[in-house]
Amino acid sequence: MIDTHCHLDFPHFDADRAAVWQRAQAVGVVGGVVPGVCLRDFGRVVALRGPGMWIALGLHPGFLADHPPDALAQLESWLRRDRPVAVGEIGLDHLLSPETHARQLSLLEDQLRLAADFRLPVVLHVRRAHDMMVSVLRRISFRQGGIVHAFGGSLQQAEAYVKLGFCLGIGGVVTYERSRRIRQVAAALPEEALVVETDAPDLTPAAHHGERNEPAFLPEVVAVLAALRQTDPERIRMVTARNARRVLGLQGI
Ligand SMILES: [Zn+2]
Repeated sequence: MIDTHCHLDFPHFDADRAAVWQRAQAVGVVGGVVPGVCLRDFGRVVALRGPGMWIALGLHPGFLADHPPDALAQLESWLRRDRPVAVGEIGLDHLLSPETHARQLSLLEDQLRLAADFRLPVVLHVRRAHDMMVSVLRRISFRQGGIVHAFGGSLQQAEAYVKLGFCLGIGGVVTYERSRRIRQVAAALPEEALVVETDAPDLTPAAHHGERNEPAFLPEVVAVLAALRQTDPERIRMVTARNARRVLGLQGI
């Protein structure tokens, strides 16, 4: 299994980071992708890189106040120097205040162009803005693909992303019975489009509800996904790891 989205740089893991990763490896997580969300965290993100631990760097739409005026130029220097596997996480979050939407959009477009220049895929955070995201990707002819993390859209929206070379990240939300729509979508998606993630420390799966999420809980997502798709967990492990390697160009393990 590859956890395609875990924020192991966050302070939530300061006390036991090494133990968290050991627990993940003990249950079969062979790799993880840590996406940076703002410049002040990038040093910590880069320091985590190692065998089976890849990084992405990007300016998250939920942290606009933390991105200085020259943030894009600084991001470009980080990309040039530290060569992450993707630009991310970046995106559009329309659950946040409408006054932020225009700034979110311009930041997204700038970073998509930067990713295209560096020939890197992207890790996207998208809430209530899938149609707009798809139209932006089409408008600027973004061809590097990537992952739409914690995907919560419709099957039709998923198919639009797949056509653009994206995989959809399935995480803890799918483990809740009340998540009817995402369960239906997860069951119906083409196998080549599936990747799994925890989004640790957030989006904890049902069996650990209320706890800090961590990559060691990824097998619970895989088990639910296997049940929904009437296949065995081993197949989901294999297919999602292969998809993650393909879409992010992961090498090393
Ligand atoms: Zn995230």
